[in-house]
Amino acid sequence: MIPKLIAEARKIVIKIGSNTLADKDGKINTAFLEEFAAQAAALIKSGKQIVIVSSGAQVAGLSTMGKWARKRDIHYRQALCAVGQVELMGAWTRAFGKNDLHIAQILLTQDDFGDPIRTLNMRNTLFTLVDEGIIPIINENDTVSVEEIKIGDNDTLAAQSAILWSADLLILFSDIDGLYNKNPKEYNDAELVGEVRDIEEVRKNITIGEANSFGTGGIATKIDAAQRIKAYGIPTILAHGGKPRVLEALAAGTQRGTAFLTGNE
Ligand code: ADP
Repeated sequence: MIPKLIAEARKIVIKIGSNTLADKDGKINTAFLEEFAAQAAALIKSGKQIVIVSSGAQVAGLSTMGKWARKRDIHYRQALCAVGQVELMGAWTRAFGKNDLHIAQILLTQDDFGDPIRTLNMRNTLFTLVDEGIIPIINENDTVSVEEIKIGDNDTLAAQSAILWSADLLILFSDIDGLYNKNPKEYNDAELVGEVRDIEEVRKNITIGEANSFGTGGIATKIDAAQRIKAYGIPTILAHGGKPRVLEALAAGTQRGTAFLTGNE
């Protein structure tokens, strides 16, 4: 089903989690960015359109500053994101630049999605960028997002962006092959759920474990994201972003993942 979803989708939102963007030392994984950009460029050449939702600002900020890792104060965390966002976009600019593609930064908050005029502007900007062959890279605007107005995790932001842009498919890249019946990091015998048709049913049948050190939402926000966009007829693929040439492998059916289906497939 995953190759079919990718083959049939023209407009694809791809969300890349912090754990995929960072390497083992907590630095931006430029090898991943470059491999990903090359695959995205090939998809664009084949007629597809791509919008990226990229986490990783805080991780990039920490590795740039080399300090503040233990500061929990919200202003320090926002400052880290402000530093790291620039680094992150620099890394994306270089990765896509090698494929002669331009990127654009879009920073959003929850408030933006609640305001019809802003929503319209965001939508028009997204359409214009993509029509011009530019790759929008969306992230939460952490500097203005105090707790009360935080989207909080990029799975939700990716779902909202997919709806806003009327995407055909959402791909969530994490550091696990997909949704399991229990946390694969804790249980060796956890089994992958390859296809989800009934999200409420799957919620009853799986156990949700802890998120990763850099992760914010964990698996719960990925299920919520899939459920949110299912109502708009948009399917979701959850897969391991760190696997070799993962976009191509998913399209070819050689890499497994979880497909959250809408019923229209
Ligand atoms: P990301 O930063 O990629 O968004 P998160 O750390 O927020 O990732 O969430 C993914 C993590 O959720 C996985 O690495 C896994 O350890 C954990 N997890 C907990 N329960 C499950 C489950 N039932 N199936 C899959 N992953 C799970």
